[in-house]
Amino acid sequence: LVRFKNVEKSFGALQVLKGITLDVAPGQVVALIGRSGSGKSTALRCVNGLEMINGGELEVCGRKLHAGKVDLLELRKDVGIVFQSYNLFPHLTVEENITLAPRKVRRIGKAEARDIAAEVLEEVGLSEKAQAYPEQLSGGQQQRVAIARSLAMRPKLILFDEVTSALDPELTGEVLKVIERLAREGMTMMLVTHEMAFARSVANTVVFMHRGRVWETGPGAMLSNPVTDELRQFVGSGL
Ligand code: ATP
Ligand code: MG
Repeated sequence: LVRFKNVEKSFGALQVLKGITLDVAPGQVVALIGRSGSGKSTALRCVNGLEMINGGELEVCGRKLHAGKVDLLELRKDVGIVFQSYNLFPHLTVEENITLAPRKVRRIGKAEARDIAAEVLEEVGLSEKAQAYPEQLSGGQQQRVAIARSLAMRPKLILFDEVTSALDPELTGEVLKVIERLAREGMTMMLVTHEMAFARSVANTVVFMHRGRVWETGPGAMLSNPVTDELRQFVGSGL
């Protein structure tokens, strides 16, 4: 579903991705870990076209993002992204937040939008909050609404960038549970996380990025037996 081949990305003179090669198959969950500045967010942002690559090849849901013009709107129907900040519209209800994009982009009617909202809210365990406003919800609940909003587009792939980093520890678990549930249901996901135990348990593949490169990659168990000194230090530092 996603294929990075020697992907390079620079911001001016700063090369942030120095030849990333990485495949994500349908139904796979890939966790990106690594130190601050190693290029995790940049790699994720390239996948849904928030950044354009400068070298190599990147294919996402059958589209070649390196080969000139891509319809970003079409790409983003297939690829959802959820950030640390949930960016819900404060003046819209939960249901309205969720149905805004599908109604606009997929041009579906009110009734169908309602059904979709009900379905995705059930998925994140917030069925009773459809008519609430974001400020009436906890941070964890707001983040689950943000995930539901992404699901409402029926994406083939969802990207998560440190979705629990802004949350109090006691609210982190409820968000991770939602992601675990999606994993069980076969959703393809790429996630950047600092939650090592979570990466280990939910990801089929863990990718340790270091200085713009894929430094070490393997199943979750690799976190217990790092091959490189850099990963050993990273895991040891408790980050
Ligand atoms: P963190 O764990 O702190 O989120 P990260 O691994 O996600 O780090 P990136 O956000 O991908 O790292 O950033 C990698 C490098 O690219 C950093 O040095 C950052 O300052 C730089 N960078 C990212 N986005 C831009 C941009 N739009 N313009 C210029 N430099 C950028
Ligand atoms: Mg980041």
